Amino acid sequence: MDEGSERKSGFYWHVHHGVLLEWCYSYEERKQYIIEHKPASEQELRLRLFQPVHGTLPDAVARASQEYVRASQEYARASQEYVRASQECDRAWEKRDRASQECDRASQECDRASQEYARASQECDRAWEKRDRAREKRDRAREEYDRALEEHAAEIEALHEQECPDCPWDGQTIFPEKGD
Ligand SMILES: [Zn+2]
Repeated sequence: MDEGSERKSGFYWHVHHGVLLEWCYSYEERKQYIIEHKPASEQELRLRLFQPVHGTLPDAVARASQEYVRASQEYARASQEYVRASQECDRAWEKRDRASQECDRASQECDRASQEYARASQECDRAWEKRDRAREKRDRAREEYDRALEEHAAEIEALHEQECPDCPWDGQTIFPEKGD
């Protein structure tokens, strides 16, 4: 595929110093890496021995090697995917944790408000009953007063006559209907 381009992949001798034969994804990249990162004293030997395999490798070796390369790439992709999923999971957990704390606080707030309402409601009931009793007491006092007035009407009328001369009061009003 990369035939003729700078980046050649294929089987190479001595891609790394401790491995005889390896599939190299990019000759150019590995060469640059050696130049930039390997000790100067090693570079000449490394670059001289880092050469493509020209002959034909046993089929089993070539197939197994390419299978290994594919599996390694698949593993690398799966690892990245796992890291992303793991971070997403951590974020989701933190979010859930915050929401849970928020929920606990709201729940406690709800409990307190419910207790507060229950107290206010009892207070309201007591005040209603108290008012009710006070109204009954007032009504009885009014009856008592009316009865006393009625029972002592004669004495009160006598006292009135004595203290209020020339009074037009007729038992109902001080403005009795004029007789014309
Ligand atoms: Zn009078």
